Amino acid sequence: MLHGETILIATGSAPFRPAGFAFEDDRVCDSDEILEIDRIPRRLLVVGAGVIGSEYACTFAALGADVHLIDGRGALLPFLDGEVSTALGAAMSRLGVTFHWNERVVSCALTGRDGDAVVTLSSGATLRGDTVLVAAGRTSNTAALRLEAAGVAVGERGLIAVDRQYRTNVPHIFAVGDVIGFPALAATSVEQARVAMSCAFDLGFKSQIASILPYGIYTIPEVSMAGETEESLRKQGVDYVAGRALYAENARGQIIGDRGGFLKLLFRKSDWKLVGVHVLGEQASELIHIGLVVLTMDAGWDLFNRVCFNYPTLGVLYQRAAYDAAGSRSRPASS
Ligand SMILES: Cc1cc2nc3c(=O)[nH]c(=O)nc-3n(C[C@H](O)[C@H](O)[C@H](O)COP(=O)(O)OP(=O)(O)OC[C@H]3O[C@@H](n4cnc5c(N)ncnc54)[C@H](O)[C@@H]3O)c2cc1C
Repeated sequence: MLHGETILIATGSAPFRPAGFAFEDDRVCDSDEILEIDRIPRRLLVVGAGVIGSEYACTFAALGADVHLIDGRGALLPFLDGEVSTALGAAMSRLGVTFHWNERVVSCALTGRDGDAVVTLSSGATLRGDTVLVAAGRTSNTAALRLEAAGVAVGERGLIAVDRQYRTNVPHIFAVGDVIGFPALAATSVEQARVAMSCAFDLGFKSQIASILPYGIYTIPEVSMAGETEESLRKQGVDYVAGRALYAENARGQIIGDRGGFLKLLFRKSDWKLVGVHVLGEQASELIHIGLVVLTMDAGWDLFNRVCFNYPTLGVLYQRAAYDAAGSRSRPASS
């Protein structure tokens, strides 16, 4: 038995296993078990087109599997900027992923000992595959902790509720990472832990995590974003100007052979502050950091105009996209 005056719960999460799938059979995998398979599936049925389902769909399609991605929603990763989501969907289709939108799996039957899995969809259609990957979200690893004995409140799928300093309803017990849910990323979990421990031990080091978080999605092609999308700006009634730069027209993009990538910047029209950055293509999740720093500094068009970027680099895409934005509508006052 260990005792502590301060406790940090960071036990992470496990794949959520919906009812109706025979996970005890090798042909049906969750997102942990798929790493253990000993062959590339001939035909892979992926249930759930979230980040994890989409990433694995791309990986196996690139490895030559015939991949079918099934989701109850009607759009790919709907939190992405719509233009990026559409471009990613088209790229994934070219890679060999077939989408089944607005479909729920109503049953998953296994034929014989070594036969295919047959998935029946809500429309009545059936799909056959030798492997089924169920990527239907995550559940917090809290069941074994007996948190009720300590008085810690636990919600749906084992989620622990916390305040802005990651303190649970029991003041000396903190929780961070996947056990508290969204955004459930390695990047954010470690920042949350820094805030929690800085607060617990009064270190004065970090009192909250960054208000703008980047998202890196390792599909093929890679996607990354930070800040607002065109859709979220329209919803808020914010006037904006978009600027785009294509990898195909960038020297480094041409060298690395990325013909479909693009970087898109969104500027608030009233003051030309940067409000959103979106990248689809090679190194997207690295490239996003330039935009993320500009967003965090609350800077904008003028900064891209002043900076001289190395050549040939993908970083030049930022300046190009900024000039594209300036050329497309009323030009901002330059310094
Ligand atoms: C397929 C996949 C791809 C991902 N890709 C990315 C990505 O590209 N970028 C990104 O930022 N995030 C990614 N994530 C999310 C990321 O892995 C998690 O958000 C992150 O690991 C959460 O950190 P954590 O410390 O909360 O939990 P974990 O990293 O899961 O660590 C929890 C640890 O606690 C241990 N543990 C559990 N229960 C107990 C117990 N009772 N006693 C003792 N120890 C226990 C576990 O064994 C584990 O070692 C991905 C996740 C998945 C599943």
